[in-house]
Amino acid sequence: MAAVMIPIDPDKKDDVYYRYKMPALQCKVESSGNGVKTVLPNIHEVCAAINRPEDVLMRFFQFDLGAQTTISKKDDKYLIMGSRQEEQMQQSVYSFIKKFVLCGQCKNPETVVHYDAKKKSVTKVCGACGKETKWEANRAYTTMYMYYKDHPEEATAGKGTAEARKRSCCCTAPTAAAAASAEKKATKTVIAASDLKDDRKDRSRCL
Ligand SMILES: [Zn+2]
Repeated sequence: MAAVMIPIDPDKKDDVYYRYKMPALQCKVESSGNGVKTVLPNIHEVCAAINRPEDVLMRFFQFDLGAQTTISKKDDKYLIMGSRQEEQMQQSVYSFIKKFVLCGQCKNPETVVHYDAKKKSVTKVCGACGKETKWEANRAYTTMYMYYKDHPEEATAGKGTAEARKRSCCCTAPTAAAAASAEKKATKTVIAASDLKDDRKDRSRCL
């Protein structure tokens, strides 16, 4: 079942013009021999919308809800121990968003994580107003830092939210545009090879 689309910023739930949406986190309770667990079937979509890694969000659930989480990469299954209600899980997603996604100044969700190897820190940088926000050093922050320390390539300024990636072209941020056009070029090659009549070649160009 398709998830309901909800605002990324919980304070915008009454604003019909607010355009940053994400799917509500879905929960499926499963019980097996070793207890009751809650599966999070659409965590990828939620994480793509907020542009943060699943691993970090799962760790955050661990602190925020005091429950063990498991990621089975093999079956692509994201689990949290116990029976969880969607409402409670969504509240936790919103706590994460308020801390780690929304810009500290303008509350825009199009922020990217900036990893500074020299300073040994991560910050969030807003794509709308340019503000760099530091985080309080706590366990959740440490998780974030450790993740980006191991995956520095994911903390680049060119990576926006799913929405930013969709609409990025050479008129917007140059790094995002470069990444997007490189992606499109790769797709184009495949299309051109498999379908010579394809006329989509020029679509990726900026008008
Ligand atoms: Zn901002």
